[in-house]
Amino acid sequence: MNTMAQPLAAAPVAAAACPSCGGGAVRTIYAVRSIPLHSCVLLDTPEAARSFPRRDLELAFCSDCGFAFNAIFDEPAMAYSENFEESQHFSETFNSFARDLAAEMAERCDAAGSRIVEIGCGKGEFLIELCRAAGASGVGIDPSYRADPGRSPASAGVRFIPERFAAAHHAIPADIVVCRHTLEHIAPVGAFLRDIRAMIGDREDVRVFFETPDFARVLREGAFWDIYYEHCSYFSCGTHADLFRRSGFAVDDVRLVYGGQYIVQYARPVEPDPDPLPPGGAAVAEMRALVDGFEARVRRTREAWFERIDRAHREGRSVVLWGGGSKAVSLVTTLGLGDQLRAVVDINPYKQGRFLPGTAHPVIAPERLADYAPDLVVVMNPLYETEISRQLDALGIRADVASLT
Ligand SMILES: [Zn+2]
Repeated sequence: MNTMAQPLAAAPVAAAACPSCGGGAVRTIYAVRSIPLHSCVLLDTPEAARSFPRRDLELAFCSDCGFAFNAIFDEPAMAYSENFEESQHFSETFNSFARDLAAEMAERCDAAGSRIVEIGCGKGEFLIELCRAAGASGVGIDPSYRADPGRSPASAGVRFIPERFAAAHHAIPADIVVCRHTLEHIAPVGAFLRDIRAMIGDREDVRVFFETPDFARVLREGAFWDIYYEHCSYFSCGTHADLFRRSGFAVDDVRLVYGGQYIVQYARPVEPDPDPLPPGGAAVAEMRALVDGFEARVRRTREAWFERIDRAHREGRSVVLWGGGSKAVSLVTTLGLGDQLRAVVDINPYKQGRFLPGTAHPVIAPERLADYAPDLVVVMNPLYETEISRQLDALGIRADVASLT
């Protein structure tokens, strides 16, 4: 089914308060129907992939503080478990980014000998790398943590708690609090930040590092594939920093990294302002301006990618995607792609041999690509295009390569 024709609802959200600022100037700016509840889950059969639970998503925008969120997010349904495969650490491009970031953090947070707590540590690769680079000890908290033999070298002084971050963890001593690619999965973002601030208490020497996807780029480029069910909260650099300032932190540095895709932010606790300024200012103005015209930009990117892939298929050309993560699930579900796409390649061995939730496209290893004789390879992240082109050359595959933005 091609879902492209569905209208992008632009309507007031009934009785929703903004989870970031508590304001009420909230309206829907984007909607997509019946998308998989999770896109990093592993499905062993096409039947299980097709019958995977789905929900609607309605993205609401708060014009008071510039925050965007899924106003009908079904949080109780989002039970994270160790069956999730979110790791990007099989890519040399990503590993090189993570190594450089760990080295930067070790130096800027003066992390030698410190105690690091990472909230939402995934499979723990980054925490192990950071503790190794810094000579620090660490505790990683994440319900999807799973110790796979050989995945990450065992590291003395690093332990993991496979649970969701909660008040019970507030007593773990922390000199540095790290939270990467987690805030976008949290619906009550204001309450989450207040929790972290309460955990830190009156220790003003604690350093806090967050890394979160940038939504300003998504708005600017009409990059609808970066909107998916697991992500219920969306920030720009400015609105991210504003939330921290309202929550008892001073922001020392906030900037974009990773080809402009991720926000990184260094902050520290300060005495909460008893009479904070209401949200507003340049960060909110930027987001308001970007939200205007987003619907038209999404329509253009949707039509352009559907037409490109569908035309190739009609002409008898074999099309595959490279990258079987959340972006891929969002792209194929939102465009309603079926037979037009032969397979999805992923270098993560934990994904290979399994099926994309929703559409049940097979996820294959690069070595199996020759079986599909691809004519067009759609690269889900432009940062990986060089790495992927090199792998295609090594496999002797001549195909057109086109990257999403
Ligand atoms: Zn707000």
